[in-house]
Amino acid sequence: MLTGKNHIAGEWRGGDRSFTAVDAASGDKLEPHFAEASKSDVADACAAAAEAQKVFGSLALGKRAAFLRLAADKIDALGDTLTQRAMAESGLPEARLNGERGRTVGQLRLFADEVENGAWQGLRIDHANPDRTPPKPDLRMRKIPLGPVAVFGASNFPLAFSVAGGDTASAFAAGCCVVVKGHPAHPGTSELVGGAIAEAVKESGLPEGVFSLLSGTDFELGEALVKDARIAAVGFTGSRSGGLALMEHSANREVPIPVFAEMSSINPVVLMPNRLAEAPEALAEAYVGSLSMGAGQFCTNPGIVLTVEGEATDRFIAKAREALPSVAAQTMLTKGISDAYRKGISTLGSLDGAEPVGVGQEGSSACGRAEVYTVSASAFRKDNGFEEEVFGPSSIIVRCRDLSEVAEILESLEGQLTATLHLNETDHQEAAKLLPVLEQRAGRILANAWPTGVDVTHAMVHGGPFPATSDGRSTSVGTLAIDRFLRPVCYQDLPESLLPEALKEGSLGSLTRVDGTYQLAEK
Ligand code: NAP
Repeated sequence: MLTGKNHIAGEWRGGDRSFTAVDAASGDKLEPHFAEASKSDVADACAAAAEAQKVFGSLALGKRAAFLRLAADKIDALGDTLTQRAMAESGLPEARLNGERGRTVGQLRLFADEVENGAWQGLRIDHANPDRTPPKPDLRMRKIPLGPVAVFGASNFPLAFSVAGGDTASAFAAGCCVVVKGHPAHPGTSELVGGAIAEAVKESGLPEGVFSLLSGTDFELGEALVKDARIAAVGFTGSRSGGLALMEHSANREVPIPVFAEMSSINPVVLMPNRLAEAPEALAEAYVGSLSMGAGQFCTNPGIVLTVEGEATDRFIAKAREALPSVAAQTMLTKGISDAYRKGISTLGSLDGAEPVGVGQEGSSACGRAEVYTVSASAFRKDNGFEEEVFGPSSIIVRCRDLSEVAEILESLEGQLTATLHLNETDHQEAAKLLPVLEQRAGRILANAWPTGVDVTHAMVHGGPFPATSDGRSTSVGTLAIDRFLRPVCYQDLPESLLPEALKEGSLGSLTRVDGTYQLAEK
C-alpha cells in the first residue's frame, strides 16, 4: 500500500536514490524503499506552494476550516494501518500511538474551529477624524498569512509533531501552504498521513501545491528547503544542533525568514520543603514514572529536580533508588537516539560530583535504561555539563542548601519549556518568591503535576526562552501557534470597495478592536 514516493503538489514522484525505514525494536529493514527527494523536488514543491499560496491564503475561512476537518477525518480513517506502521518505525506502543492519532486529529479540528472564530486575525479599526490637527487617517489592520511554511517532522511524535502535527495544522490554519520534510525515522507513517492530507486537498478543490511531502536522509535536503526563496517560515522540533543549523541557513539567505525551532529543555522541578516532607515516597514514585514514561523521549521530560537537603530529600532519593530497578527498558525511537542517550548518560555519570542513585532494567541495544544521578548544588554550578539535555529516561536530583540556593540555580539555568513547583499551602509564601524567576526562565509553570503532558488548548504555551525555542515569544502547541505564521498589514484610507471583507464597515465577522475598544461585531 505504501509507494515509497515523495508527494510533490499532487504528484507521487520516485527518485534515483533511496533509503529504507528500520524497525526500531529489531533493527530490521522495513519495506518499501523510499525515494530520497532531490533538489529539483524541493524547488518544484516550493514553486507549487508559492503559486497555491495566492489561492489558499485568501480562501474563505469556512472553506479553510472544512479542509482541516476533512484532513482530520482522513487521518482518523487510516486507523490501525497507521498505528501498526508507526509502531514498527518508532518502537512506541499501540496505546500511545492511538492516543497520538486522537491528539493529531483533535488538533486539526481545534484549529478548524479557531479559523472560523476569526479572532486570530487581530482586526482593528481606527476611524478617521478629519477635525483633528493634523487630521487622523482611517486605519484598519488585519493579520495575513506569511506564505509557504517548511515543516520538519519530529522523531519523537511521529503523528502529533510530524506531517500533520502542530506546525502543519497551525500553518494551514493561518492560510499558509506547507512543504513537509518528513523525519527519516518514520517515512511510511509520513507517507500515510501525507496521502490523507493530499486527498483532502484534492477533494476540497484546492490547488495541489497547498501541500507537499519530501523524504530524505541527508542535511542537504533540509538546507535546500530552508534556503528556497519561496519559503517564508520554518517550524522544527528536534536537536539543538539541528535547530541552530536551520537558524543559520535562514540567516544566510538573501531574505532571512523566521525559524520557530523547539530544541532542548531540562524542565526543572522544584520540591518545596513542606510538600516534600508530607509525601517524599509518593513524589519519588511519580518522579520515576514521569522520567521513564515513553523512554523519556519527551521534550518536557523532568531532567532536573531541585530540592533542599534534609531527611525528606534523603527519603525521596531512597525511594527513587528503590523504584528504579522495576522500570523496564523501552525501545528508543532510533539507533542514533539510543546511541546518543548512552553517550549522554555516560558523560553525565563522569562529571565531578555526579553520584548514581539507581538504574532501571537493562534491555537490548535498541532500548534506553532509566538512570538517575544526584549532585550537590555547588558541584552542579561548577560544570555546565549537568545542564545539558540527555534525551531519554534520565534525570538529576540537585541537593541545595536552602531555597535561596534553589533560586540561584534556577536563575543560572538556560531557557526552559516548563518549570514545576510541588508545593502545599504552607509553601506558598516561599513559592511566590520563586515565581518571577520561573517566569523569566520558562514558557509554562506547573503546580503539583509532572511536565510531560502537553494539552492542546487555547491557553497552552509550549515554548520558552532560548534554547527551549529559537523564539520565546511563541508556542508550537495550542491555538496561539497560529500567530507564528501571520504578519500584520495596515490599510490607510483605502476605499471601502478595496478593503478586505473582514475590515469593511458593518461587515465585521469576529472580535474587532474599534477605536481602541474590543467589540464582538454583529454578523
Ligand atoms: P535532529 O537530529 O535534530 O533531526 C530532526 C530533523 O532535522 C531531521 O529531519 C534532520 O534531517 C534535520 N536536521 C538536523 N540537523 C540538520 C542540519 N544540520 N541541517 C539540515 N537539517 C537538519 O533530531 P532527531 O533525529 O529527532 O534526534 C536526534 C537528537 O535530537 C536526539 O538524540 C535528541 O537529543 C534530540 N531531540 C530532541 C527533541 C526535543 O523535543 N527536545 C526531540 C527530538 C530529538 P535528517 O533527516 O537529514 O537527519
